[in-house]
Amino acid sequence: MPPVTPEAHPLPARIELQDLSLWYGDTQALRSISLTAPERRITALIGPSGCGKSTLLRCLNRMNDLIPGVRLRGVCRVGGVDVQDPAIDVTRLRRRVGMIFQKSNPFPRSVFDNVAFGLRIGGCSGSELEGRVRSALQRAALWDEVKDRLEDHALRLSGGQQQRLCIARAVAVEPEVLLMDEPASALDPVSAARIEDLIRELREAYTILLVTHQMQQAARLSDFTAFIHQGELIELDQTERLFSQPRDPRTEDYVTGRLR
Ligand code: ADP
Repeated sequence: MPPVTPEAHPLPARIELQDLSLWYGDTQALRSISLTAPERRITALIGPSGCGKSTLLRCLNRMNDLIPGVRLRGVCRVGGVDVQDPAIDVTRLRRRVGMIFQKSNPFPRSVFDNVAFGLRIGGCSGSELEGRVRSALQRAALWDEVKDRLEDHALRLSGGQQQRLCIARAVAVEPEVLLMDEPASALDPVSAARIEDLIRELREAYTILLVTHQMQQAARLSDFTAFIHQGELIELDQTERLFSQPRDPRTEDYVTGRLR
């Protein structure tokens, strides 16, 4: 099956899936998914709970490797590189493909050390390290709030600040792709709105795949939307068109709230 590509997008594809299927033991969770996601755009993944959205995200940074009994078929490329290639250095892959989870997960360390973590592994230190930590916190729209408390324990920050800290930690190592799994859904409305503003800004520099169960959020934030149902990619299109003129009746049922 040829990849489903949003029509007329001018930018090169940063993410390409070709006939990707995945099984947890005997249960098939992804069914021959082919899609592309262009760089510096937000592609939202929507669909009922359990349809395979998180599973799909986890293929892109090999997080499914950590789950026993997982079997995969098909191709999954980031920046032209096949992420399933056994020769791939998975730690490096995860720096190129950052992931933000629903529940923020700062390390139990200082604010500074959280952002510095991956940079130190890469050999960065001294004033260069300080500069890059500052720049990452600025990109995550957190610098002004934490510049005087860099040595504070990260868990003393508010929930919304902790999520922006996790985004700073991910962008510090200069990834190409950000995978976001319901990044705002555990937050109060004000913090969630700040995260949405931040995601909109990050779009200028990164390829973003955003899993959301909130259709309004997909409509507000994303350029393209993919609707997944029972492990199958039903439709991928420009967001506005997918919501206003869905081509498949299952997409229509979902976006109008008839299919849950
Ligand atoms: P979504 O993110 O759309 O809610 P998931 O990707 O979490 O969906 O799940 C897709 C399917 O795979 C579901 O049927 C779920 O029960 C199953 N699944 C997810 N994670 C695991 C796992 N670690 N082991 C076995 N089955 C899993």
